[in-house]
Amino acid sequence: MVRSSDVRKTPTPGEWSQSLAPSGIGDRLHAFAAEIFPICRSITGNGVRETLSHIERIIPLERTEVATGTPVLDWAVPKEWTIRDAWIKNAAGERVVDFRACSLHVLNYSTPIRTRMSLQELKKNIFTLPEEPDLIPYRTSYYQERWGFCMTHNALQTLPEGEYEVCVDADLAPGSLSYAEHVHVGERDEEVLLQAHICHPSLANDNCSGIALLAHLAAAMHGLGTKYTYRFLFAPGTIGAITWLSRNYETSRRIKHGIVMSCVGDAGGPTYKRTWRGNSMIDRVMAHVLTHETLTANIVDFFPYGYDERQYNSPGFRLDVGLFQRSQFATFPEYHTSADNLDFIKPAHLEASMRMAAQAIEVLECDARYASTAPQGEPQLGRRGLYSAIGGDKDGYAKNMAMLWVMNMADGRHSLLDIAERAKLPFATVAGMAEALKESGLLVPA
Ligand code: ZN
Repeated sequence: MVRSSDVRKTPTPGEWSQSLAPSGIGDRLHAFAAEIFPICRSITGNGVRETLSHIERIIPLERTEVATGTPVLDWAVPKEWTIRDAWIKNAAGERVVDFRACSLHVLNYSTPIRTRMSLQELKKNIFTLPEEPDLIPYRTSYYQERWGFCMTHNALQTLPEGEYEVCVDADLAPGSLSYAEHVHVGERDEEVLLQAHICHPSLANDNCSGIALLAHLAAAMHGLGTKYTYRFLFAPGTIGAITWLSRNYETSRRIKHGIVMSCVGDAGGPTYKRTWRGNSMIDRVMAHVLTHETLTANIVDFFPYGYDERQYNSPGFRLDVGLFQRSQFATFPEYHTSADNLDFIKPAHLEASMRMAAQAIEVLECDARYASTAPQGEPQLGRRGLYSAIGGDKDGYAKNMAMLWVMNMADGRHSLLDIAERAKLPFATVAGMAEALKESGLLVPA
């Protein structure tokens, strides 16, 4: 297992965000998304491996290959798809549809074919979006073997009657499914699972953005001391998570909190989809972070459709794993089309998403219970220099209120997150004041 355990320092409350999501990181995330955008990924095949190689330039990975046909939970690992080229040529021999121009043009996981046919016949294997005639749809056919192409409806309309030559130069054959992990070792065996799916071809928000965020978050964690162990999992959607779970039951028992990340680069949301349990720690953490960071947080209840949170939350696992996105999947017109491109995701949104992920980690890392050493009546804070320490501070009022709330609720039973929720103050403000109060001797760990 690849483990980065050469731990150096633990950020104090308020420092995590800057440590894990420094300002300017959005440009790097966007550049990385642009790097992996052209690769034609699928649930299996070299597109996935190539993507993992790009991630490996940022963080070490442990890769796993699982052979086609291997039983995984109620499924089996599918065949490996190798795509080399795909095109439709007109009578003059010109490519009127060209995979080299956009990986969405081939039906993802298409069987190979090379033949000639009339336009009429060809149309049976072409997918378009008549209601969005300038966009190429993203379509897959994983579990029913067939061939096909995707193109804009307008381009299809311009094709004259006649004979066409079609070619999908691909193999669909026994091989393996690839996934990869990076583990940041903390003080505890208890784990936080962070996962991104790596099976979509040239789609920027869904999910080059999630891959970029997770890889850079793992890199930023290098050298930080954490309580939890963090497992970063890069796996194809559905079948990848199922394959990982089928081989990691013991590990899964150590997962205490988790977040699936996808579509984290657009302007919408942010959206958090709760775990099946609905009131787990990660649900509270994400709701707190998103509502304090933005005025537009969309917190939705669990439903058994979406990304891999549905595998983790299935009855045989019931892991507390939620889903973090900007716009919720399938609710934006660019979703699963060629409009989900590199212009659709912006460095500023990627950076804000990474900051929210960093803040969630901060809450998980810094949440604690304290007991007041002067619980009877209000302690005299001025005598201890606690008020003057924050004089002239623009956040002075919030810090004063945080201090009063912490002293009021430091009964050994309430955690800093409990206090932040009750006080309606950002966690970092509350946790930062708790640090100061601890140093003054007014608080002791409960
Ligand atoms: Zn998708």
